[in-house]
Amino acid sequence: MIDFNEMISNHLKREMRPKTIGRYYPSEVGYCLRKSWYSYKKPKETDIETIKIFEMGNIVHNFVVDVLNSEKNPHVELIEAESPFLLNIDNFLISGRIDDIILVTVDNQKALLEVKSTSKLNYVKEPQDSHVMQLQLYLHAKKMQVGYVLYIEKNTLQSKIFEVQYDENKVNEIIDRFRAMDFYLKQDQLPPAEAKMNEKKGWLCASCPYFEECEKEKVQ
Ligand code: SF4
Repeated sequence: MIDFNEMISNHLKREMRPKTIGRYYPSEVGYCLRKSWYSYKKPKETDIETIKIFEMGNIVHNFVVDVLNSEKNPHVELIEAESPFLLNIDNFLISGRIDDIILVTVDNQKALLEVKSTSKLNYVKEPQDSHVMQLQLYLHAKKMQVGYVLYIEKNTLQSKIFEVQYDENKVNEIIDRFRAMDFYLKQDQLPPAEAKMNEKKGWLCASCPYFEECEKEKVQ
């Protein structure tokens, strides 16, 4: 008998690659700085079930690329998928990969598209702060004005899309968060337990791999 669950796990299993202090990623700044700090200081293997969820996100993204490339949608043109970028700030780097750059040919406007998969589209009333932060940073890196956060429900392919305008003040706040993270890491100082202190972020703690370590420390 074939154990296909095991085959998927084998296929997706990855080597853990420790992160380098001084090189940061847009996806980690919008959540809990303490959790990100731990991921540099006490790296842990990502559990296989979480890797499977990430892989489903990749599958959804590949589908979005097919839709954008489809000749049946001539009003939107995919210019570039998975575009890398590097921002040099003070004495650290922010590196990332932008999902898609599209050209909406109706109004000849270039825009960035950030794709997120979700299991419950009904709950998505507005784009998540962390997703908007990522997009703002990408707009900044690419010197573009308009972006969209696209949510796709994994089991129905229903979607919701939100327009985001570039906001320089917001970008400065985001870069300040990276500065704070860089400071805490280089000073070897634990940041406050942000998710515990912020109602909107409290849900992060339930699936945080550093819950036990964090519980032993002061909140601030
Ligand atoms: S348990 Fe919560 S507050 Fe602590 S590091 Fe994890 S997400 Fe942050």
